[in-house]
Amino acid sequence: MRAAVFNSTYVTPGAWLKIEETPRPQPQPGEVLLKVIACGVCRTDLHIVERDLPPLHPRIVPGHQIVGEVVDGAPGGAPATLPAGTRVGVSWIGGVDGDCWFCRHNMENLCDRPVFTGYSVNGGYAEYTAVHADFAHPLPAGLDPILAAPLLCAGVIGFRSLRVAGVERGQRVGLYGFGSSASLAIRILHSWDCEVYVVTRGESHRKAAASLGAAWVGDEDSRPPVELDRAITFAPSGSVVLSALSALRKGGIVAINAIHLDQIPAFDYDRLLWGERQMRSVANMTRQDARDFLALARDLNFRPAVQTFSLDDANRALEAVKHETGEGSAIIVL
Ligand SMILES: [Zn+2]
Ligand SMILES: [Zn+2]
Repeated sequence: MRAAVFNSTYVTPGAWLKIEETPRPQPQPGEVLLKVIACGVCRTDLHIVERDLPPLHPRIVPGHQIVGEVVDGAPGGAPATLPAGTRVGVSWIGGVDGDCWFCRHNMENLCDRPVFTGYSVNGGYAEYTAVHADFAHPLPAGLDPILAAPLLCAGVIGFRSLRVAGVERGQRVGLYGFGSSASLAIRILHSWDCEVYVVTRGESHRKAAASLGAAWVGDEDSRPPVELDRAITFAPSGSVVLSALSALRKGGIVAINAIHLDQIPAFDYDRLLWGERQMRSVANMTRQDARDFLALARDLNFRPAVQTFSLDDANRALEAVKHETGEGSAIIVL
């Protein structure tokens, strides 16, 4: 089969991936073999090929927003829950050990030994990939398989952020930063009858928020005209967290959707945190998050804008993500 392979011992900027003929993966017990239909390209993939994330293997096939079709090929055949032909989505968390303290306490997103799709194991920039059956999420009928690909990472995490923030129906919710994750989150919030207040740098993001029906939109120096029940920050900036905190009512919650944050400046506890305000971080996702989000995406008829690339153009797809060129999420269509 053909695959786009990253070789971490020999990196050429802009030509990170080489299209190679490689053996079709042999699924191990508990895995299924997928014929890949499409794979979304995420900023994390760029961090992998630019070695911002330390390489775990000398060679890896990236890609962790995989949509594929189950084909027979697993030992003992395809599992009864995922018969051949089932269309599934696979995300960044491709498996957990199932027996660490966190897994045993219903917090698999915090597993001590997770599998990272396209990083610790081969991912979806290939014609075929083998994945853990338990982490292959059946796509709800009616969800376009190609348009599902870009939802599988930022979309699911954005949805989890709303859960971590404890958003309830009808609340006033602030979104700080307005990229792909937030633009999906606002539609979910509207379906829950929430009023959404958006604070974001960048004229184009403010326009996008207004066109998606935000109750109020402001730049990074402005403050929503009302006190917020909940806020979610998407920018990797500690000062943004403080802006969000300063807009909360007593008892409000800020969820921080960022893997990495620069320093949170020193702040006034009496004014910003007293009154049972809370700050929480958002880490990874559970299987339930992914499945619930995909069902919502179908119900709300999410149709994200995409720009498609062939496997041969995988490097161009990464470039598009790097320079944020083109309208819509980059996806590789097999
Ligand atoms: Zn991702
Ligand atoms: Zn675990």
